[in-house]
Amino acid sequence: MVEKNKDYEVDIVDMGFEGEGITKIDGYTTFVKGAIKGEKAKIKMVKVNKDYGFGKLLEVTAPADCREEPVCEIFNRCGGCSLQHMSYDAQLDLKTQMVKNTIRKSLGYEPIVNNIIGMGIPYNYRNKAQYPVSNGKIGFYADRSHDVIENKECYIQNKVIDEIAKYAFELTQKHHVSCYNEQSGKGTLRHIVIRIGVNTDQVMITFITNGEEFKNKDSIISELINKYPNVVSVIQNINSENTNVIFGSKCVTLYGKDYIIDRLGDYKFKISPLSFYQVNPVQTEVLYNVAKDYAGLTGEEVVFDLYSGIGTISIFVAENAKKVYGVEVVEPAVEDAKENAEMNEIRNVEFLAGEAETVVPKMYEKGTKADVVFVDPPRKGCDEKLLNTIIDMKAKKVVYISCNPATLARDLKTLTENGYEIKEVQPVDMFPQTSHVESVVLLEKR
Ligand code: SAH
Repeated sequence: MVEKNKDYEVDIVDMGFEGEGITKIDGYTTFVKGAIKGEKAKIKMVKVNKDYGFGKLLEVTAPADCREEPVCEIFNRCGGCSLQHMSYDAQLDLKTQMVKNTIRKSLGYEPIVNNIIGMGIPYNYRNKAQYPVSNGKIGFYADRSHDVIENKECYIQNKVIDEIAKYAFELTQKHHVSCYNEQSGKGTLRHIVIRIGVNTDQVMITFITNGEEFKNKDSIISELINKYPNVVSVIQNINSENTNVIFGSKCVTLYGKDYIIDRLGDYKFKISPLSFYQVNPVQTEVLYNVAKDYAGLTGEEVVFDLYSGIGTISIFVAENAKKVYGVEVVEPAVEDAKENAEMNEIRNVEFLAGEAETVVPKMYEKGTKADVVFVDPPRKGCDEKLLNTIIDMKAKKVVYISCNPATLARDLKTLTENGYEIKEVQPVDMFPQTSHVESVVLLEKR
């Protein structure tokens, strides 16, 4: 029997989805954050559940060859970069294995899974930072909690926005804006969200406030713009709910435009505060090019781009298609997509607002069918109704872009049991230093 608070000497035999080490103590599965497969370690059991437990890493007695000193001084406390203690090559290898293993467990066989495509410089890649604030501090939530820990520098963040976000927060404190308190529900400022178009240098800063009031905002903005003239958009977003969701539904433009522009490949994209935009623009181009290659369009195809965000994939592939339909649930993103098509002079695309699982069955009923379907769903994957409609319409190719191997593997099972064959899987490292993995899969109708 494994006991809580007791120390154990263990062998780390595997790694979990969140980058934790896994050991078996007399067959009992125990997760150990910060430990690496192949290591020997001393741990203290801190939680003992019925089927599995959690151990705290006390000492690595035999380190893995790939172990490295993390660059970040809050590595042990922040929930973000859970792989920073591994060399980048080892991170890439781990992610390729994660994709292979997850798909194999779901399907019972392993399709062709290529090695993941990594980044040249796997730091400072993020174009968007979302910092919670609390009690005079700005930073990150500690792992599995809502305590805000300060960090001097975030090594995966674009350096410019990291600096601007912190300066903006200092200004709010200088001008007596209170921080929101989750327990009491009182206080003004909840989060600072900042985005940069890395290829245009345009910056948007969004202050998320608990209600309409935002004390001394004019002074704050004028000092901010004075120091950072590339801030072209300042937004106040209002969220008065007692919730973990960062954004509320209402946005007020306090300064400049209500969007920023970024460039990807040959195209320009307008991005509004509530629209999704990939956070690693360098790897996004890699990802989209893989997806476009997989689709192998000839100019004759009707294409569906499902979960289309601001229309990036639709616009990337439009010149090689007869017609593209994008479907997206967030209405401001659909508005962005329409304007993006216009701005890039692309005329053979149409964007529809609504849930893919509702809109696509309706399109199919009315006789609109796709030859090629791109799906790029959020972490929970595709709704079964949507997958069934894709199967019914017998689309020749499905290009599945996924940020979660578990739901990808589940959906691949449905598609392969219903007439599709996996040709190839290409993981792409969109999130270096973290345990997140992105993959592109080409499926063809048998
Ligand atoms: N393909 C885009 C967006 C991918 S992110 C890009 O590469 O940038 C996933 C998108 O799916 C988000 O924009 C989200 O708002 C949208 N979404 C979430 N649930 C949806 C649903 N049920 N139907 C359609 N879109 C959905």
